[in-house]
Amino acid sequence: RELPADLETKNFRRQVTESCYSSVMPTEVAQPQLVAYSKEVADLLDLQIDPSESDQFAAVFAGNHVLEGMEPFAMCYGGHQFGNWAGQLGDGRAINLGEVLNQREEHWTLQLKGAGPTPYSRTADGLAVLRSSVREFLCSEAMFHLGVPTTRALSLVLTGEQVERDMFYDGHPKLEPGAVVCRVAPSFLRFGNYEIFAARGDIETLRKLVNYTIRTDFPHLGEPSRDVYLHWFEEVCRRTAEMIVHWMRVGFVHGVMNTDNMSILGLTIDYGPYGWLEGYDPNWTPNTTDASGRRYRFGNQPQIALWNLVRLANALHPLIEDAEPLQQALDVYSDRFEQGWQSMMTSKLGLSSFQPEIDLKMFEELTEILQLVETDMTIFFRKLSLLETENGNQEVADEMELLAPLMDAYYEPEKVVGEVRAKICNWIRGYQSRLRHESLSDIARREKMNRVNPKYVLRNYLAQLAIDKAEQGDFSMVNDLLELLRHPYDEQPDQDQYAAKRPDWARSRAGCSML
Ligand code: AMP
Ligand code: MG
Ligand code: MG
Repeated sequence: RELPADLETKNFRRQVTESCYSSVMPTEVAQPQLVAYSKEVADLLDLQIDPSESDQFAAVFAGNHVLEGMEPFAMCYGGHQFGNWAGQLGDGRAINLGEVLNQREEHWTLQLKGAGPTPYSRTADGLAVLRSSVREFLCSEAMFHLGVPTTRALSLVLTGEQVERDMFYDGHPKLEPGAVVCRVAPSFLRFGNYEIFAARGDIETLRKLVNYTIRTDFPHLGEPSRDVYLHWFEEVCRRTAEMIVHWMRVGFVHGVMNTDNMSILGLTIDYGPYGWLEGYDPNWTPNTTDASGRRYRFGNQPQIALWNLVRLANALHPLIEDAEPLQQALDVYSDRFEQGWQSMMTSKLGLSSFQPEIDLKMFEELTEILQLVETDMTIFFRKLSLLETENGNQEVADEMELLAPLMDAYYEPEKVVGEVRAKICNWIRGYQSRLRHESLSDIARREKMNRVNPKYVLRNYLAQLAIDKAEQGDFSMVNDLLELLRHPYDEQPDQDQYAAKRPDWARSRAGCSML
């Protein structure tokens, strides 16, 4: 067929201009069914009903029933994706239902993910599958309980419908159960919400949105003014730095740090192909579409956050009209991150204070020895607290004995021999002698370390097992993991299987894309 000559100019994405959002109704689905809900989030919202006893709950949070007072809308935003400006994106499969003002006078936005197309869906369907929804639901709650700033998840509901997804490995579309997660956060604004107006030269709307953001979510900064804009941007830089420090602490890899996935509140948002480090590897990314560039690898997250903040600074420039103070705020990010990272490492190692002359080198050597053989990051740090320093101040001469508490962390213990073993032991001896200059007892240090080094994280294969069961109609493991991850720092002796390192069969799946 011959295509009309002007097709290319006519066939462009519908642009939504001069407005920050569009009204849109969720699409009705066949048969809402509750899979799981978070009781802490229900409490945040002062919810009076028991979701598991209520048909209405599933109907509302699948998008079938819009309650009085709800005025659903999808937001317009743009973004830099993988380093390039991508133009208008927007909430293609997220619909905000509205805000709840709770008894503590906190405001919480409810957002359905996967409740049908919006004016921003482009060629996609606006839907989400059970697989990705289980991952988002469990991970947001797990992150919260780990103490990482994050959006929350109230509920996970099956829609009773099948959704077509292209699973990359065999090239054939596959039908998967559809699901909706209700996300909850004070705000879902992203860097991209501001970028889109700056890119269009629509400074008036940009200013309105910034004023709204400051009044709504940063009221402590005072009435918007040029100075307040700068204080606000600096606070965004600080919050972002703190979030990244937490990711580095727990071994979380976001996987798609595009500017449309960066929350203006410094919350972890958009749990797509994220993953957890198993073997410590700064080059690892869970995002298979990023396999060649590895832009979003674990070790690159601090730099990417800064790169994204620079994009936001550019977007805000028209309101400030001077690059210098914006640059100063960006420097605050770098300082904050550096300081935060140092004190985070200090606490992971159970030290009372950071001594740059000794500790910087010790941290650096630690990241080296963690990569000599595949070393499970979570287990390593958890078990590190078992090292003793009080055995009559005697150094343990035997390498095997010295290493015994840590051997669980190694995926290939048979490789911990010879020079490799000597290097690891050398580091441990240095660390132990550093500890001997501290005043804490072994027991007190262990307790302190166990509050920053989690025992349980949402290991990639655990999420996958819960998904496999849920797809068979068995939601027990989703709920078991939710319960387990409420207390990630506690010893839960009858749950030890969930703290174990990735079994061999899960190796190839560990990096599989979970879009
Ligand atoms: P993400 O990579 O998940 O951050 O998404 C990038 C953009 O694609 C955002 O604008 C999303 O709203 C949109 N998007 C992703 N998945 C879908 C979908 N299934 N339907 C509609 N829009 C989508
Ligand atoms: Mg996104
Ligand atoms: Mg996503």
